[in-house]
Amino acid sequence: MSIDLHTHSTASDGLVEPDDLMRLAADAGLTVVALTDHDTTAGHARAAAALPAGLTLLPGAEISCFVEVAGRSVSLHVLAYLFDATEPAFAAVRAQIREHRATRARQMVRLLATDGHQVTWERVSELAAGTVGRPHVAAAMVEAGLVPTVSAAFSREWIGTGGPYWVGKWQPDVWETLRLIRQAGGVSVFAHPFASRRGVTVGPEVIERMAGAGLTGLEVDHPDHDGDERRRLRALAADLDLVVTGSSDFHGSSKPQGLGAESTSPAAYQRLVAAACGAAPITAAA
Ligand SMILES: [Zn+2]
Ligand SMILES: [Zn+2]
Repeated sequence: MSIDLHTHSTASDGLVEPDDLMRLAADAGLTVVALTDHDTTAGHARAAAALPAGLTLLPGAEISCFVEVAGRSVSLHVLAYLFDATEPAFAAVRAQIREHRATRARQMVRLLATDGHQVTWERVSELAAGTVGRPHVAAAMVEAGLVPTVSAAFSREWIGTGGPYWVGKWQPDVWETLRLIRQAGGVSVFAHPFASRRGVTVGPEVIERMAGAGLTGLEVDHPDHDGDERRRLRALAADLDLVVTGSSDFHGSSKPQGLGAESTSPAAYQRLVAAACGAAPITAAA
C-alpha cells in the first residue's frame, strides 16, 4: 500500500485540477490519497467523482491557525481529516479564513496601486483559480515587472512580513482549531511541525499541549524535514502516543516533490480512520 495524506489541487494553491490529481495519484501507484486544500473542501466532489478503481480518497483540509508562544504569534498548519464538512461551526471558520485571505490580498493590491504600481485586483483574481492569496499578488507583481521573482515579492521591501505592502492576516488559534475539528467528528494531524525553512516553528512543549487538546497525529515524514527533525518528531510522537504520518504535500509539477514521495504506514492510516466519525474514506462507485 502506498498512502499519501497531504496534497493540494486548484481548489487552493495547487496546479492540478482535483479530478486530474486523482488520475495522477493512481498513476503514481497510490492506494490512498488525501485531498487537503487550504481551508476548503471545494475540490472533494470533483475528486470523488473522478476516483479510479483501486484508489481511496481521504477527504480533508489544511487549516491555517496560530499559537501564542511567549507573547509572539506563530503560524501553524493543522491537517483535518474525515470531518463532517457540513458541520456549521467548523464550516463557518473555514469560510472566514478564506474570506480574510481574499480581503488581505485585496488590501495589498490597493496599497501597491496607491503607490502607483501596476497591479490590478482583476489580474490577481484571474491568476488564482481557487482561493485568492498572497502568492497570487506576488505572481501579478512578477508579471507587471515590479520584481524579478515571487520570492523577491515576498521580501521585506514588498509584501513580506513587515514590508510596506504587507497586510496581517486573521486565523483561528490552534486550540479553537483542534476543538472545531473534533466537534465536526474529524481527526487532526500537525502539518510539517519542524519545517524551519518555512518560518518560525514551535517547540515540543507546544506539541505536548496540542496532544492534550485532542491532536491525533504528527506529520513526521515531510519533504521540508531533514533527518534530524524527523528523528526528533518520531521520538516525540512515540512519547505522546501520536500517530506518525508521512506525506508529499504535493502542489503540482512546479515543486520538486512528487506524489507518494513520502508515505504513511497502513497501521497509522487505520488509526486515523478509526479515530474519526465525521465522514468515511471514499472509494470509486462500482
Ligand atoms: Zn502547510
Ligand atoms: Zn500543504
